[in-house]
Amino acid sequence: MRRDWGPIVLGVALTLTFAILVGLGTLGPAGDADERSPAAQGPPTPPNWMRKLRAGEKPPQFVLFSFDGAGSHDHWRRVLPLAEKVNAHVTGFLSGIYLLPDERRGEYAGPGHEPGRASIGFGGSEQEVANRITDLNDAVAAGHEIGTHYNGHFCAGNEPSAERWSTAQWNDELDQFFGIVRDATTNGLLVAENTIKGGRTPCLEGDFGKLAPALTAHHLTYDASRTSEGIAWPRQRAGIWEFWVPVVRVPALGGKKVIMMDYNLWYSLNGAREEPARDNEFTAVTLDTYRAAYQAALNTNRAPLSVGTHFNDWSGGAFSAATEKFMSEVCVREQTVCTTYSQVIAWMKLQDPKVLARFRGLPAAQVT
Ligand SMILES: [Zn+2]
Repeated sequence: MRRDWGPIVLGVALTLTFAILVGLGTLGPAGDADERSPAAQGPPTPPNWMRKLRAGEKPPQFVLFSFDGAGSHDHWRRVLPLAEKVNAHVTGFLSGIYLLPDERRGEYAGPGHEPGRASIGFGGSEQEVANRITDLNDAVAAGHEIGTHYNGHFCAGNEPSAERWSTAQWNDELDQFFGIVRDATTNGLLVAENTIKGGRTPCLEGDFGKLAPALTAHHLTYDASRTSEGIAWPRQRAGIWEFWVPVVRVPALGGKKVIMMDYNLWYSLNGAREEPARDNEFTAVTLDTYRAAYQAALNTNRAPLSVGTHFNDWSGGAFSAATEKFMSEVCVREQTVCTTYSQVIAWMKLQDPKVLARFRGLPAAQVT
C-alpha cells in the first residue's frame, strides 16, 4: 500500500500520525514537539533549569512524583496527559511481573519462594500486557522515567520477605526483573535496560547494606526506599544515591509523624479500610500534607520532595485524586520543577560539590 501511495501521501500519513500522537498526549511537553517531529529528530533540548547554579542562587524546588507498580492502564491514561499539561516528568517504578502474562507466571520464582508465587497479581492476559507495554512506551517517549519496584512484592508476613534477603537474593530478583524487561522488548517494549537506573523496594523493606552491592552489579545508581525525618537532600552511600521518602507531621492527625506515602497515610487515617463516607476527607488530608511538605522544603533547605504513591483506587481513589491535584497545582509554580530521579542526579552532577554539601548540611525541612 505504501508503494502505491508514494512519498507525498506517505508524508501526509506521517504528519497525521504525528498530529494524532500529539492529540493523544503521547509526546512530550508542547515545547518538545518540534524536536520530536519526524523531520527533525534529535535529542531533546535540556530544560532551562539543567545548569549550574549561580553564586548564591537557590536551587529549584524539585518535586519527584513516583508511582509504584506502574502497571495500571487507567492511571497512566490519566497521568500522561496531566503531566504533559503541567510540564511534569514522573517516575514509574515498574513491578516486573506486570509484564508477565498470568499463563507464564511459572517463569518467575521470587528469592526463597515457589515459582509462580507473588504478593501481587501477575500481568493478566496477553492483551493486558500488550496495553501495558504501550503505556510504558508512551511514558518513555514523553520523557518520563521507568525504574524498578522489583517483582514479587514480598513484604513482612510473606517470608522470606525483602527485609531478609541477602545480596545474592537481591541479585536474583534483579536478574529476573531485567530478564522480564528484556523479554518484553521482543514484544515491542521500548524501555531500554540501560535507562533503568534505580528503584523502590516493596514496602520500603530491605537491608541497604545487602541491597547496595546488587544495585551496583546491575548498574543502578539510586534507591528511593529509605526514610528520613523531614525532607532531606539525597546522599550517596556505597556509590548509590539515596532519595529519601520523608517522614512528616500530618496536620490533620494532630501533628503525628507518618511516612509520606499513600498507603502509610491511609493506614494512619483509618487502618487502611474502605470507608466511602470519608473518601473526600482523605483526599483533603493527603493534599494538605503534600502542600505543607512542599512549603516546608521551599522555605528552608529546598531539598527535593519525593511524592511516592501507587497507581491505586484505594478509598475510592482518594489518594490518587490528591496526587493528581497536587501535581496540577505545584508543577506550574515558579522555581518548581517536577522531574525524575535521574534528572535530579544529572542536575546535582552539574553543581559545585561544596554548594551541594552546604545544602546537605542544612537541617531537614519539617512540617510544623
Ligand atoms: Zn509497592
